[in-house]
Amino acid sequence: MRAVVYRDVNDLRLETVPVPRIGANELLVKVAVCGVCPTDIKKIHFGTVPPPRIFGHETAGTIVKIGTRNSSLVTRHSSLKVGDRVALHHHIPCMKCHACRHRSFAQCETYKRTGITAGFEPAGGGYAEYVRVMKFVLPGVVKIPAKNSFEEGAMLEPVNTVLKAVKRLNLLRGDRVLVAGQGPIGLMFTKILQLRGINVLATDLLESRLKLAVQFGAERAVLASQLSTLNPQLDCAIIAVPSDAAVTQALQLVRGGGQILLFAHTKREAGSWKLEAGLPSSQLQAPIFQMDLASICLDEKDLIGSYSSDFTLQNEVARLVFSRKLDVRKLITHRFPLAQTAAAIQLASHPTEQSLKIVVGDEVTSLTSNSEF
Ligand SMILES: [Zn+2]
Ligand SMILES: [Zn+2]
Repeated sequence: MRAVVYRDVNDLRLETVPVPRIGANELLVKVAVCGVCPTDIKKIHFGTVPPPRIFGHETAGTIVKIGTRNSSLVTRHSSLKVGDRVALHHHIPCMKCHACRHRSFAQCETYKRTGITAGFEPAGGGYAEYVRVMKFVLPGVVKIPAKNSFEEGAMLEPVNTVLKAVKRLNLLRGDRVLVAGQGPIGLMFTKILQLRGINVLATDLLESRLKLAVQFGAERAVLASQLSTLNPQLDCAIIAVPSDAAVTQALQLVRGGGQILLFAHTKREAGSWKLEAGLPSSQLQAPIFQMDLASICLDEKDLIGSYSSDFTLQNEVARLVFSRKLDVRKLITHRFPLAQTAAAIQLASHPTEQSLKIVVGDEVTSLTSNSEF
């Protein structure tokens, strides 16, 4: 089969690799669509994990083969059959360890294992024609209703990460929340918050995204540069851009007792896996972010983070997306065939006024609007 293999920093190659073999209780899924995600782009651009790998974890497709079922298979998975259109989920926690008991699923060792692969060290595999879905991630497999598209299915994973983050906030209806950054993720935040009765103040660097933010339910949307002139009273700020300046500003604008949530600061400053591998953590250069810690102590502001997904929210996420209360179709602006994955990643890492969510796959519903790339 064809697959796009990460061979080195910024080096993606279209190669022919074996169709993955599956074992008992595993699935083979023919990939229809895979979303391009900033966390994969980071790994490709900065070489934060060793090659070779096949990335892509926002995957939807069709089950083409099911490994021998054994009796330990629980009922939910035994309802899956060949021909089902499904959305996949590549991380599932053990639900038993210390981290899981605290519901810190993203810190669970089982969760950190990737359960979907197209070959090499498992890394999602969605940038390939077929993926192997391992037994331990079967609880995350969701059937796509007949009326919904593969593209909508592929958006469950990013929507899950956003809903998980929203659930970390102490918000009341009528609260005012800043969402800094109105890319696909920021727009998902805006809509989910609006559905909960929150007044969203949205910011971005691109004018075109401000209009979209209002369509997605923002009460107000302004250029990031205009935020300080508004001097808004905020209950909370969600930083959906990897900008330290945005965090500094949010710390000033959020009221005492409010929260600042980091969603896009996913790149460790310490550098690549090559550097990290050879050094004790104490010797890694830490970035210097200056803040007045009295804003945490005296003003009782919470600076918190949220990373990755919570599969226990998967049914709620599926209802939100498949009912189109959160209509993710409006977020997808560019579709590339699998062979052009590198171009898709290039565009995703240099967003334009016209680009939002970018997907790849040979069964994407149309191939419009990518002719210039
Ligand atoms: Zn993702
Ligand atoms: Zn665990």
